[in-house]
Amino acid sequence: MTELTLRGLTKRFGATTAVEDVTLDIPNGRFVCLLGPSGCGKTTLLRLIAGLEEPSAGQILVAGQDQTRVPTHRRDFGMVFQSLALFPHLTVAENIAYPLAIRGVDRATRRRRAAELLELVRLPDVGDRRIHQLSGGQRQRVAIARGLAIDPRVFLLDEPLSALDANLREHMQVELRQLQQRLGVTTLVVTHDQKEALTMADMLIVMDQGRVQQTGAPMEIYRDPANAFVAGFIGSTNLLPCRLAGRQIRVAGTTLDLAEGDRVKSADGDAVLSVRPEDVRFAETGLPARVTFIRDLGESVQIVLDLEGREVSAVFTPRDRPEVGLGDTVHLTFEPGRRVVLAP
Ligand code: ATP
Repeated sequence: MTELTLRGLTKRFGATTAVEDVTLDIPNGRFVCLLGPSGCGKTTLLRLIAGLEEPSAGQILVAGQDQTRVPTHRRDFGMVFQSLALFPHLTVAENIAYPLAIRGVDRATRRRRAAELLELVRLPDVGDRRIHQLSGGQRQRVAIARGLAIDPRVFLLDEPLSALDANLREHMQVELRQLQQRLGVTTLVVTHDQKEALTMADMLIVMDQGRVQQTGAPMEIYRDPANAFVAGFIGSTNLLPCRLAGRQIRVAGTTLDLAEGDRVKSADGDAVLSVRPEDVRFAETGLPARVTFIRDLGESVQIVLDLEGREVSAVFTPRDRPEVGLGDTVHLTFEPGRRVVLAP
């Protein structure tokens, strides 16, 4: 069932259109990541959904009910902000129960619910502490617990993990996802980190310049990007200019036949070939390229090549690492069935 529906949602700030004509259906229980570069309108879209901004046009529906004019505190949405916005003068338990207090829930119920939520985020013993007595990761969990206090219909988080160091951040990504799976709450998280989105989400919304570029399951978008922006933003890719003629492309002076599984999103003529680094192979024959850089990361090896003045990145596992050195000339092929031809 569709939990959250956006119809033609638009927000203008003076001459800037922060969010432009966004129409989306988010099914019940999904973990959705809203992803895009800085300034693309992610936070504004989340704030519109939360009721913290008024749309210039469009509608927000929850389970088919129009919520566009419903004030924030009546929307039954839980929220976690980038700043966390925890109150230093309240205890941890009081912070968590705060959304219940402003809704007039009695003290005993608040205490019980705070204890439950502390258990849920695996912080059973810190209810009486102040916020400054917690670590960064613990604060994050408290903010998440507070966002869940009212048992929200929709859980909204704006870059909730951005203040954490890399290791803790990865740990919290897994934790947040597991918590969401246990509760089954429809969740929308803003992030600009595509790896974070791929870790957590079962649905991505990729935005650029106020517009939704593509929505879908992470691997679907990875394999079948709608355009060159999405291909480059979700995972890394090699974008090579080419010419498309039917089921053939001409790239770097060589003609390649497209195979079953290769995607074509462009009309004949000038186009762009997208090939993921893990789909670049070295072969006996193929496009001649020169090795310009080798980066050995232990778990993988990246080999950077020059193909007629364009940089191509290839990634190998240590097991299938080719025996090449800097300056060597090799021949490249691109895994059939994994190539995408996009509009220029
Ligand atoms: P970031 O990842 O940097 O937080 P974002 O994708 O969340 O970016 P938004 O904060 O939604 O982007 O901003 C989208 C656009 O709207 C930007 O051009 C921004 O400058 C503009 N904008 C956002 N809020 C306001 C405001 N209150 N007044 C005027 N312009 C605004």
